[in-house]
Order: sequence, then C-alpha cells, then structure tokens
Amino acid sequence: MNMNKKKVCIIYTGGTIGMVNTKNGFAPKKGYLPEVLSQIDDLYNESMPDWDIIEFEPLLDSSNIAVEQWNQIGHAIADNYRDYDGFVVLHGTDTMAYTASALSFMLEGLSKPVVITGSQIPLSELRSDGRDNLITSVMIAGQGVAREVCLYFGSRLIRGNCATKSSADGLIAFDSPNYPCLAEAGIEIKYDMPHLMHQKDDKMNDTEFHLRELKQVSIGVLKIFPGIQFDLFEPIMTEKLKGIVLETFGAGNIPSTDRSLLHIIEKAFRNGTIVTVCSQCHSGTVKLGTYETSAALTKAGAVSGYTMTTEAAVAKLYYLFSCGYTRDKIKELMEENLRGELLK
Ligand code: ASP
Repeated sequence: MNMNKKKVCIIYTGGTIGMVNTKNGFAPKKGYLPEVLSQIDDLYNESMPDWDIIEFEPLLDSSNIAVEQWNQIGHAIADNYRDYDGFVVLHGTDTMAYTASALSFMLEGLSKPVVITGSQIPLSELRSDGRDNLITSVMIAGQGVAREVCLYFGSRLIRGNCATKSSADGLIAFDSPNYPCLAEAGIEIKYDMPHLMHQKDDKMNDTEFHLRELKQVSIGVLKIFPGIQFDLFEPIMTEKLKGIVLETFGAGNIPSTDRSLLHIIEKAFRNGTIVTVCSQCHSGTVKLGTYETSAALTKAGAVSGYTMTTEAAVAKLYYLFSCGYTRDKIKELMEENLRGELLK
C-alpha cells in the first residue's frame, strides 16, 4: 500500500451524471453511480488518488437544490475534512454555479480543493462527458494545487463563485466571464498559478477551517426590462425581501423616467433590505455613477456588485445574512472581495 497516496472524497448529490433513462425522462437512481464508478478502471489507475464515495439520500435533480442541501453538502465536507486531501462534489449542472458560489462562502478558512462537477450526458449514455469530468476532477482534488472551491467542466477549471452556466446543451457548459480559468486540462493539467486563490487573499484565512451554515433568507432577483412597472414590485421589495439582486442594463443603469424605483430602493434600504446591483451583461463591471441613470442608485442606498455573477451575489447575500451582521456591515461586505468573487 502506498502511504503517500492522496485521498479524495466524492460526494454524489444527484444530477445528470448519475441519471438513468426512466419512462418519465432522466432521473437519478440510488446505488447506480457507485456501481458504475467501481467499473471504471481509470479510477483505480496507479496515478489516481484513492477515493471514497458518499451518496446523498435522496438524490436530486439540481433544480431542487436549495439552502438545506447546501448545508448538507457543507456538512459532508466539514465532517470528513481531516480525513481527505480534497473533495469532488457531483452535482447537476442547472444550479451548479449557485452551489459552487454558496460553498465558496460557507467553507470558511478552506485550504483543500473542493471541485464541483457533473455532466450534460449521463454516464449511462453513449458519448458521456461525465467520464472525463469526473476523472479529471478527482485528479485535481488530489493534486492540492487549487485549494479553493472550483468548478471543473469541459476541460476547464473555473473559480466556483465566478462560474455561470452558459449552455443548456454544449459540453463546454460553463463560463467564467470575468476571471481567467484556473486551469486548462489538455494533455496535461496546466494551472494558471497567479490566478489561483492564495491563502493570503482569503479574508477568512486567519480562521481555522469551519463550516458556516446558511439560513433561509428571503432573497429576490429582479431583472430590469424596458417598460418595467416598478410600483408592481414595491410590496415585495420593501416588505418581504431581505436581499435583492437587481439585474440592471450595462454598467448598472435603470430607466430614469420612472422615479418610483428609487423611492422603492430608499424605502427598502430603510427597512434593512440590501439591494445589490449586478449587470445583465455577462462580462464587465457595474460602475455606479458613470451615467445619471445609475448614480441615483447609490444615493438610494444600493450597493455595487461590480463583476459578481448573479449566482455569486445571491449566495453572498444568503451568507452575509446568515452570519448575522448588521445592515451596514452587510452593505460594506457586499462590495468587498471576500473569496475572489469580485474585482473592483
Ligand atoms: N437537470 C439536471 C440537473 O441539474 C441537469 C444536469 O445535471 O445537467 O440536475
């Protein structure tokens, strides 16, 4: 037995990778994936780390994943943290970028790789992309170079909280529009060392590894569109929601002919709601104040999401509210880079 062999824990939550065709369409099947993995010889290759698998009960289509399951995944990692060199989370692609973002905040003081992956074609079908996604993710988790939450898909390793699902059917299904890929897996896995998270960049670096459970917080995402009638949204924005991600035009613009949104934001802010401004554009940054149409947002109390994806902004709101910070602290931290999720 090779005592220096790395050990990786595979956490299987569900998703296409382990699904089988049923009369109602693809669905996960208990016990199926561990059985398939036991038949993939490459997973037992000498250069592979040793691995174990934890199968969730019930297995989920990731459209059904929310705070409770994020906490379950977080616990699966935290409870096994000392015993493994890295973790691979097998997950459906639909909400993978949200889960990657959530885990990046929840796993405070993380110093081991957590690689989230899945596939567009199940392992049970011809031409499955699951095989490479899985094998390479296990290698990356064992190598211990990218010691952060990342997402591996279609030969690219992406920072988890910078990822977004960009294709419903392509095998390169995720992009990192505002941050370089952390590694490319060609003949070799080539890491982009300067862009990896270094422990000194992590604001939680001085804390020992620790899981921050998320709480159910009422969060909403509102996409601005031409002709939007803001007054229809007033009751939920000012009374129901604690955090709002506003998907605005371009660099953070909203229509300025209708002033009601600003009154709504002011009122929401007074009530303790945090309104975060993100962009509908996939790449580039929000710059409040560049145009008259965005300057008013800052005055009304909204915060800039800069380059954050909507997925990261939603997860960060859950996280900061779960930490129990005051409204002013949350407002301040939303604009700070905590885990490499935003560039200013
Ligand atoms: N609906 C599936 C899921 O997210 C899609 C996938 O895994 O690709 O669980």
